[in-house]
Amino acid sequence: MTQQASLAALQERIAAVNDVLNAASVLTWDSRTMMPAGGAETRGHQIATLTRLARDTLLAPETERALEVAERAITDLAEDAAERRIVKQTRHAVDHHKRIPALLIQERAALRTVAQAAWIEARSKSDFSIFSSYLARTVELSRAYADCIGWSEHPYDAMVSIYEPGETAASLKALFSELRSGLLPILDIARSRPEPRSDFLFRDYPEEGQRAFGLKLAEKLGYDFQRGRLDTTVHPFEVSFTRNDVRITTRYNRNYLPASLFGTAHETGHGLYEQGVDPAYTRTTLATDLVGLYAVGGTSFGAHESQSRLWENHIVRSRGFWERHFPELQKHFPDQLGDVSAEEFYRAVTRVEPGFIRVEADELTYDFHIMLRVDIECALMDGSLPVGELPEAWNAVIRRDLDLVVPDDAHGVLQDVHWSTGYIGSFPTYTIGNVMGAQMMDALRMQKPSLDAAIEAGEYSALAEELRSRIWQHGRRFMRDELLERETGRRLDPAPYLAYLRGKYAL
Ligand code: ZN
Repeated sequence: MTQQASLAALQERIAAVNDVLNAASVLTWDSRTMMPAGGAETRGHQIATLTRLARDTLLAPETERALEVAERAITDLAEDAAERRIVKQTRHAVDHHKRIPALLIQERAALRTVAQAAWIEARSKSDFSIFSSYLARTVELSRAYADCIGWSEHPYDAMVSIYEPGETAASLKALFSELRSGLLPILDIARSRPEPRSDFLFRDYPEEGQRAFGLKLAEKLGYDFQRGRLDTTVHPFEVSFTRNDVRITTRYNRNYLPASLFGTAHETGHGLYEQGVDPAYTRTTLATDLVGLYAVGGTSFGAHESQSRLWENHIVRSRGFWERHFPELQKHFPDQLGDVSAEEFYRAVTRVEPGFIRVEADELTYDFHIMLRVDIECALMDGSLPVGELPEAWNAVIRRDLDLVVPDDAHGVLQDVHWSTGYIGSFPTYTIGNVMGAQMMDALRMQKPSLDAAIEAGEYSALAEELRSRIWQHGRRFMRDELLERETGRRLDPAPYLAYLRGKYAL
């Protein structure tokens, strides 16, 4: 068999896996935008069945045979050739799934359903004790899961590797200690300043105007509506069904304009990444997370988040952006924003205000929420923190870092959905996204001095083109740190992120 024929046989198998996972993603998108509440239970079964089918296809003897043939066929290719990476990543995923018994997958799925119901009740009553036994069981099953995946230094390493390959408990600890010591003095300076005016953000903003501006915003940033849609949801997200159909969603809060503005900008960043993947990678391993069983073109959760944060914070949450585009926003809301200047608007949307809720946090306090969760996840996984002591541990850190007294569990340990769905290990990717986004932006500004003038002029296509050629087009071919080394000369480095925050909030 020729090299080409050997690879084509494997590709046929992976295309089937990708198709099934994309079908599951369509059902997920529907469940979060259109589906009536009554559909939740059967929809859960449908998505679980499709995910199982994808796994079975990946682990079928036909895939194994095609993989073995392909492995023999690619030995003369360069280490980073796309074909070679396809084979290597497929092997890694097959070995990963072989190590996890079907019974454990079933147990985790069954627990997820009841744990989520318990979490919803616990949060509405603000009573952690309703959820604690489910969380304890989640931690037990996560430890069993980590043992199957395999780890050498810390069980958390195995969990993180699913979302952010290459990171470990130890590497995150080092990153966070550098971030913490860099962030605290910036936060001190920002908190010592007088509060800017922000009353106008809470005026009455009808949904039609918010949506009309949001559509223009996404288009302005380069999102292609021939291959995308913007819909309404409770918790904004992006999902792609190949690069040719990339959906983004947002939510409209009638009395708080920034929710949809920055939510739309954020999801647009995710969408641009998926729309920019090389068309040649469609339905291949390089546009499929075969370990997480999710059809996605971005190389890691953190890399994906770096693109959403870059557009949301470095572009749309910038003074230059509002100097240029505020008049357009005013046209949509002449009564609500008639007495506001572009500068006042910029100051309002960058005000620093430590709070209890992660998803509402400003740029300076956001990472403290993440560091808290990652410390807790590590301690839960290695057994040094019993689940019963979690609320006190949580509240003590919020007090230490943000100087706030948590009033109840709903504003503390119960606020996020992640742990009730069995997701342990994904929180660090939000902070990694912040760090990577700033590192990319910093390198681009140095390498392409003309970029700033284009951005200042409200022209974002040059930036999008740089990101497309340097990051998006590669899909999952390169690991996150490989991309960073190619484009910035170093692995993940918090220095540009801290410099960016200092310049924006402490000068
Ligand atoms: Zn995101």
